[in-house]
Amino acid sequence: MQRTLVIFKPDCVQRRLVGQILQRFEAKGLRIAALKMIQVSKELGEQHYAEHKERPFFPGLIRFITGGPVVVAVIAGPEAVAVVRGMMGKTSGIEAAPGTIRGDFSVSKQNNLIHGSDSPESAAREIALWFQPEEILDYDLAGQDWVAES
Ligand code: UDP
Repeated sequence: MQRTLVIFKPDCVQRRLVGQILQRFEAKGLRIAALKMIQVSKELGEQHYAEHKERPFFPGLIRFITGGPVVVAVIAGPEAVAVVRGMMGKTSGIEAAPGTIRGDFSVSKQNNLIHGSDSPESAAREIALWFQPEEILDYDLAGQDWVAES
């Protein structure tokens, strides 16, 4: 069981797509380990996207991610990092393949609806940034044996 951080970005909330996209993760067989809605501060946005600090799109990205509430989740399951990345599709909604979240719902490089950690190491860093340990729940799901072998 692996954990990854997913952010339903401000455009996702404003376009009322949170439920539809969260549903894809549940239907895939992944599980919600933590979920909350927050208004991202400039500090948290800058920490989260620290690796892009020098990029020309950074100021616009910080304005975007702080521009309205987000829903943030810890999603868990077998190879959750890679599975979620695959479901998201390429960064640009224009290039993302149909069938992926960005491919189906976005035509933008910036306003691409969701964030998913890009490696298990990033996931550990990002989960610690966005959640307190006690906010993340480990629980049994009825029928889990029918979803994946243990
Ligand atoms: N982004 C942008 N312009 C670009 C590239 C990225 O505004 O030219 C934004 C976009 O919202 C993206 C985020 O910056 O999701 C982080 O970029 P990254 O390359 O890490 O893409 P991701 O991992 O989200 O696909």
